[in-house]
Amino acid sequence: MNHKEKETPLRRLEELERLAAAEGCEVRREEPMSRHTTFQIGGPADLFVTAPEEAALSRLLAAAAEREVPVLLLGNGSNLLVSDRGVPGLVVALGAGLRTVRREGNRLVAGAGAPLSAVCSFARREALSGVEFLWGVPGSVGGAVFMNAGAYGGEIGQRVERCRLLTPCGAPQEKSCAEMAFSYRESACQRDGSTVVSVTLALAPGEEEEIHAQMEDYFRRRKEKQPLEYPSAGSVFRRPAGHFAGALIEQCGLKGRRCGGAAVSEKHAGFIVNLGGASCADVLRLISLIQETVREQTGVSLECEVRRVGR
Ligand SMILES: Cc1cc2nc3c(=O)[nH]c(=O)nc-3n(C[C@H](O)[C@H](O)[C@H](O)COP(=O)(O)OP(=O)(O)OC[C@H]3O[C@@H](n4cnc5c(N)ncnc54)[C@H](O)[C@@H]3O)c2cc1C
Repeated sequence: MNHKEKETPLRRLEELERLAAAEGCEVRREEPMSRHTTFQIGGPADLFVTAPEEAALSRLLAAAAEREVPVLLLGNGSNLLVSDRGVPGLVVALGAGLRTVRREGNRLVAGAGAPLSAVCSFARREALSGVEFLWGVPGSVGGAVFMNAGAYGGEIGQRVERCRLLTPCGAPQEKSCAEMAFSYRESACQRDGSTVVSVTLALAPGEEEEIHAQMEDYFRRRKEKQPLEYPSAGSVFRRPAGHFAGALIEQCGLKGRRCGGAAVSEKHAGFIVNLGGASCADVLRLISLIQETVREQTGVSLECEVRRVGR
């Protein structure tokens, strides 16, 4: 038996905890993930660490890989359904040094932890057009690239020129847009487990007022259609070919259907909302009910867009 097998998982976590603290990370034990997800659902992360900048993040990923401790990279938690029993291992959030946004010619270089709202506002102030459609998507740049987030006919992948990444072992890597292999709500990161550190977005000069008006228009349309007054993780299902998930769910009479504290939104049937105190188990039961009903009544299989993580 080698020394790794003798170590308890707790011992490995304690080592990582010390290492993270020495790297200047903010470290918390048993941090409730319900505080970090827009669904406001999720049990405790064994170890919750906020990495201040790229070098610390790289060494932390390397140390976790070496100790075979699982890592979940957290953006803004707006596309996550976290288990009630929490997340094993390490959850890594991105701190101030990974949230910067700067201009380079007609490009923006954005840290993966920057909220999309900060990127859109920055682009508007700089009179750079091309990311207006992302206004109102409550994610971070890294989460948006990982998911190839999109709305109103645009996808972030269409604006990405290149990405700076870390491999699961913490080694730096650059990828072009083509290498990121963006497709509907998919990117190479989902397959190779790499972490987005920063992204170069190619934009075009525009008029600040026009950019502002376009952003406001998108946001008004969101407010009209989406149940923004309740915690949720946005559209639960991927768009099935030739259909809209929300329309199919509504057609099956499922609007307002509840499981515990989780309900199919009355406003937009593609959303599941947390009416108060919903558990992950409630949401999963509701998802199964929706999938079975829609399959029986329409023959269409709905696949989850929301990512289920944890134990
Ligand atoms: C009200 C509402 C409206 C929404 N509208 C839209 C919409 O119009 N279009 C749309 O596409 N989505 C929408 N979403 C879903 C969500 O906002 C997007 O998927 C968003 O891109 C997720 O980003 P995040 O930072 O919150 O990622 P998280 O939810 O934190 O994480 C999602 C996945 O990305 C991974 N990840 C996060 N950061 C990184 C990183 N730096 N490197 C590698 N992996 C990373 C995580 O590990 C996880 O697997 C909506 C959600 C809500 C709640």
